[in-house]
Amino acid sequence: MSEKKWVYLFNEVEQAEKYAGNWDGVRTVLGGKGANLAEMTRIGVPVPPGFTITTEACIAYQDDQTFPEGMWQQALDSMKVVEEQTGKKFGDPGNPLLVSCRSGAKMSMPGMMDTVLNLGLNDETAEGMVKLTENERFVYDSYRRLIQMFGSVVLGISDEAFEEVLDDYKKEKGFESDTDLEAADWKELTKQFKAVVKEAKGYDFPQDPVKQLELATKAVFESWNAKRAIDYRRRANIPDDLGTAVNIVTMVFGNMGWDSGTGVAFTRDPGNGEKILYGEFLMNAQGEDVVAGIRNTKPIREMKEETPVVYDQFQEITKKLEKHYNDMQDVEFTIENGKLWMLQTRSGKRTAKAAIKIVVDMANEGLIDKETAVMRVEPEQVDQMLHPQFDLETMQAAREAGKLFASGVNASPGAAVGQVYFDADTAEKMAQEKGQDVIMVRPFTKPDDVHGMLASKGILTSEGGATSHAAVVARQFGVPCVVGASMMSIDSNKREMTSNGKTVKEGDWISLDGSTGVAYLGKLDLTTPDLEEQEELMTLLSWADEIARLEVWANADYPKDAQRARTFGAKGIGLCRTEHMFFEEERLPYVQEMILNAEEAQNMINNVERLEGFIESGKIDGRAMTDETRKNIEAELMESKKGMEKAAAVKAYKSALENLLPSQRSDFYGLFEVMDGLPVIIRLIDPPLHEFLPSQEELLVEVTQMRTKGETEGLEEKEILLNAVNKLHESNPMMGLRGIRLGIVYPDIMRMQVRAIFEAASDAAKKGFEVHPEIMIPLTGHINELTHVQPELEAIGKTVMSEKGVEFDYKFGTMIEIPRAALTAGEIAGVAEFFSFGTNDLTQMAFGYSRDDAERNFLITYVDEGILPENPFQVLDRKGVGRLMEIAVSEGRKVRPDLEVGICGEHGGDPSSIEFCHLVGNNYVSCSPFRVPVARLAAAQAKINND
Ligand code: ADP
Ligand code: MG
Ligand code: MG
Repeated sequence: MSEKKWVYLFNEVEQAEKYAGNWDGVRTVLGGKGANLAEMTRIGVPVPPGFTITTEACIAYQDDQTFPEGMWQQALDSMKVVEEQTGKKFGDPGNPLLVSCRSGAKMSMPGMMDTVLNLGLNDETAEGMVKLTENERFVYDSYRRLIQMFGSVVLGISDEAFEEVLDDYKKEKGFESDTDLEAADWKELTKQFKAVVKEAKGYDFPQDPVKQLELATKAVFESWNAKRAIDYRRRANIPDDLGTAVNIVTMVFGNMGWDSGTGVAFTRDPGNGEKILYGEFLMNAQGEDVVAGIRNTKPIREMKEETPVVYDQFQEITKKLEKHYNDMQDVEFTIENGKLWMLQTRSGKRTAKAAIKIVVDMANEGLIDKETAVMRVEPEQVDQMLHPQFDLETMQAAREAGKLFASGVNASPGAAVGQVYFDADTAEKMAQEKGQDVIMVRPFTKPDDVHGMLASKGILTSEGGATSHAAVVARQFGVPCVVGASMMSIDSNKREMTSNGKTVKEGDWISLDGSTGVAYLGKLDLTTPDLEEQEELMTLLSWADEIARLEVWANADYPKDAQRARTFGAKGIGLCRTEHMFFEEERLPYVQEMILNAEEAQNMINNVERLEGFIESGKIDGRAMTDETRKNIEAELMESKKGMEKAAAVKAYKSALENLLPSQRSDFYGLFEVMDGLPVIIRLIDPPLHEFLPSQEELLVEVTQMRTKGETEGLEEKEILLNAVNKLHESNPMMGLRGIRLGIVYPDIMRMQVRAIFEAASDAAKKGFEVHPEIMIPLTGHINELTHVQPELEAIGKTVMSEKGVEFDYKFGTMIEIPRAALTAGEIAGVAEFFSFGTNDLTQMAFGYSRDDAERNFLITYVDEGILPENPFQVLDRKGVGRLMEIAVSEGRKVRPDLEVGICGEHGGDPSSIEFCHLVGNNYVSCSPFRVPVARLAAAQAKINND
C-alpha cells in the first residue's frame, strides 16, 4: 500500500481531484487558496511554483501536535521539486530560494494565521542575495520583515515590540518614512529585531531555513484552534473538522525596482457590478504595502500606462479566470522584473447590487445560464435592494469621520435616519404629533412597545439576538433594526446612551444600517431604490418567474398596497383583511354601533329567519308540520317581525351595517381595479369583536373616575360600552368567538361583506375590468361550519350578480389554520373551492403556543438552547405544521383535483418556507408586497433545487 499523500505540488491538481472526487472535494483537501493556486497552474496562468500541505494533515496534527507520519518528508521532497522548477535552492547562499507560508481553509476565514513571507533568509543567504541582486537595501528590508513577521506570527511576540524599535530608530536618525531608510539602516534594524526575538523568547531567531519552515507550518496548524478562529467558525457556521491547509509558495518580489510591482483587483466593480477591472497597485512595492496603505496606491487602470505589456497580459488572465470560474474574481498579483505572477484568486465579495448586476451581465454574455444566475443571488440580497440604504462610500466616509457609534446584530435590513427616543410612547408621539423621523432605542422590546416600533423609522437595542422580539417585529414590518449592540449603555433616567466613547441624547440624530448592524452618529444620506429603475433586478426576477412553478401573490388590504404588489410582480392578492378597514376613524363608530347591538339584534333576526324557514319548508326539524302548528308559527312570526321592526337594537344594527356597506364596497372596488385580470382573495371578518372596542381596563378606570367625581356627562354611554365589553370578554379570545364562528352567530356581518364584494366586483366588471373575486372564510374547523355558512353567502353573491346583470368567475373557500381542518381537509374540499394556509394560527395551534407569550417568554431560550432549530413563526416547521399541510393538500386534491392552494402570512415571504410550499404542491405563496420580489426568487430557487 502506498503511503498517504499529505502534500500536493501546485501541478498535481489532477491527483488531488482523483483523490477528492470533485472540485468541492479538492477545495476541502487543499483549502480554497491552495485549490485555486493549483487550478491556475493547470490552466496555464503564471503562478510561482509551490505546494500545499493538506487540511487532512492539519486535522491529524491536532491529535498530538505532531505532523502525521510521512508528511514532513513529503514536504521536503516537494521542496526539492520546487528547487528544480525555480533553479534555486532553499538555504543555498549561492542562489537562495525564498518561500512564503500561507494558511488557507476551505472557507475564507479571518481569524486564521497570517502569512509569513521571505522564509529561507538567514545571515548567509542574505549575503548571497546581496551579491545576486546587488540590492542590499532590498535584501535587508526583506530580512527584517521576515524576523518581524516570524516573530509576531509564529513565535507570538507582540508586533509592537518590533514597531517600537523601528520608531525609536527613525526618531533617533530623524527619518520620517520607511523610504528614507538606507541599506545600512535595515541591516542595523535586522540586528536589533534579532535581539527582540532573543529577549522575548530566550533563544535566537532560527537560522536554519528548514526549521523556519517547520515552525511556520506548525503555527498555521495551531492557529486553526486559536480562540478567534473558533469564535469565527461558531458565528459563521463553519464546521470545526475542516482544518486549514498550508501553502508554500516561491517568493516573487514586487520591490525589485521600477519594473516590479504588486496589486489587488476585482474582475468587476464589487460595489455596483460594472464590468471594469477594479483595484489598485503600486510599482516597486511588496504585497503588504498595498493593503497597509503606507504608500498611495494607484487605480488599476493606470497600470496600462506604466507597464502596457504586463497590463494586457493581466487583462487577459483576469478574463480567463472569470471565464474559467464563471464568477467575478478577486485576485492578488506581483510583477517581478517585468514578469507577472498571480498569487491568489477567489470569488469576490460584493454588494447586493453588484451581485445582481454581475449575474445578469454574465448570463447575457453567455458565461452562465439563467438558472445559475438565479441561484447565485441570495433572496436577502433582493430584499436589500428594496429598502432605503446607505451606499458603501457614505458608510466608509462616516467611519473615517469618526461617526461610528455602535454595532450589533443586523436584525432587519435597510437604513434609517432619525431622532432618538428611549420609550415607545414618546417615540410614537414624536412621530405622530410632530411628524419626526424617529429611531426608538431600548435595552430590549416587549409587545407593549409595538406601537412605538411601528411609528419608528428604525429600532436599536442593546440586548437580544436575531430572534428577539425587536428583531422579529422589525422584520415583520420591514423596519430597519439593529439588536444586541452590547457595548452600548442606555441611561433611561438621563435619557441618553453611550457607546464607543460617544454620548447621544434624546432627540439627537443617528443613522442606523440594519443590513450591516451598525449605528452612526448624525444624518447619513439615504438612497431609496426604485424597483422599476433597477433593470438588472427586473430582468433577474423575470427569469425567476419563467423558472418557478409557484406563483407569488401578495397580502394587501388597500389599493395602494395592491398597486405596489403588482409593481413588484405579484400575480394576485392572497389576503385582503377586511377588518383593517373597520379601524378607520370614520368607520369605527359604525363598527362599534354594529357590535354593541349585534347580540340583541341578531337574536331577533335569527329567530325571524328560523320561523320563516319553517314556513317555507313546511317542516320543523325535518318533520312535516300540522296546519295547527303552521298557524301558530305564522302568528309567532308576525309577532316577532313586528317586535323586530320596532326594536331599537335592530334598527341600529341594520343601519350600522348599511353604513359600512358602501365604504367596504369602495375599498374592494379599488382592489379590483388595480388587480385587473388577476385573482383577489378577500377574507371575511376574522378577529374577535372586542378588538374593535376600547379596552376593558381603560373603560373601567374611566367609568369609576367619572362616578367618584360625580361627572354625569357621557357617563351613560361609557357604561353601556363597558357593559358590552364585559359581555364580549373571553378568557382566550384568539380561540373564542371569531372567524367563521362569528359568521354563524352574527351572520349579517359576513352577509354585508359578501354583498359589498359582489357589488364592487360587478361595478368593476361593468367598467370593463376583469375580476376574479375569491371569498375566504377564516377559521373553519369542522365541515358543518362551512356548509352552514358558505352556500348561503354564495347565494347572496348570485343575487347581486343578477341584480347588476353581470357574471364573472368567483370562488368560495376557506383558510386552513386549525389542525382539525387540515386533518379533515377531504371533507372540507367538498365545499371549499380553495385553501389558504394560515400558518401563523396553524403553528400556534399545532405547537400549542400563543405566539406573543411564546416569543416573550421562552422561544428565544428554545432557539438559543437548540431545542428548536428556528423560531417556527418565522421559518415553517416542516415536520409538524408542514405535515398537516401535506395531509390537507393531498386529501383536498383527492376530492377536488383542481383545488387551489396557497399560503398567507409571514411564512409566505420566507425562503425556506417557500421551498416547502413548492414541495407540498401549493399553487402560490402570498406575502407582504415588499417581500414579493424576494419570494419570486425563492420560488425559482425552490424549483431548481428540487425538481
Ligand atoms: P491573505 O489570505 O491574508 O490574503 P496571503 O497568503 O494571500 O494572505 O498573503 C498576504 C500577502 O502576501 C498578499 O499581498 C500576497 O499577495 C503576498 N504574498 C503571499 N505569498 C507571496 C509570495 N510567494 N510572493 C510574493 N508575495 C506573496
Ligand atoms: Mg491573499
Ligand atoms: Mg388567522
